[in-house]
Amino acid sequence: MEAQVKDLLKEHSLRLTQGRADVISIFLNRNVAISHGDIESDVDGKYDRVTIYRTLKSFLEKGLIHKVLDDTGATRYALCSDGCSEVSHQHNHIHFKCQVCNETTCLDNVNIPDVNLPSGFKMSESNYLITGTCNKCS
Ligand SMILES: [Zn+2]
Ligand SMILES: [Zn+2]
Ligand SMILES: [Zn+2]
Repeated sequence: MEAQVKDLLKEHSLRLTQGRADVISIFLNRNVAISHGDIESDVDGKYDRVTIYRTLKSFLEKGLIHKVLDDTGATRYALCSDGCSEVSHQHNHIHFKCQVCNETTCLDNVNIPDVNLPSGFKMSESNYLITGTCNKCS
């Protein structure tokens, strides 16, 4: 097992299990936002839906991954960069969906522009998606 996987689990106070390690490896290998279905097909029957669901839920709660909403309506997930924890997710980067390869990636260094909400409105979460052609497809 890769040391990186162990470190990530430890940093986010998650107990090491084979299932968790396998799911993190999938995130590390793919490097794009992935769906529950992608994980299911990658583990190839080794874990059932419920196990995968619980694993993703614990990762979300501990600040290891975040939700990525794209234009298909399917929820995808991507690894968080440094700084996210059980207490809070720190990022406000945008997501990019490529219409050629259909991959959705985190643009970690591109921030969501400031939005001035009318008084009485409070933001808890924001999602910003740009669709187009990625650098591999253009
Ligand atoms: Zn996060
Ligand atoms: Zn592309
Ligand atoms: Zn992201």
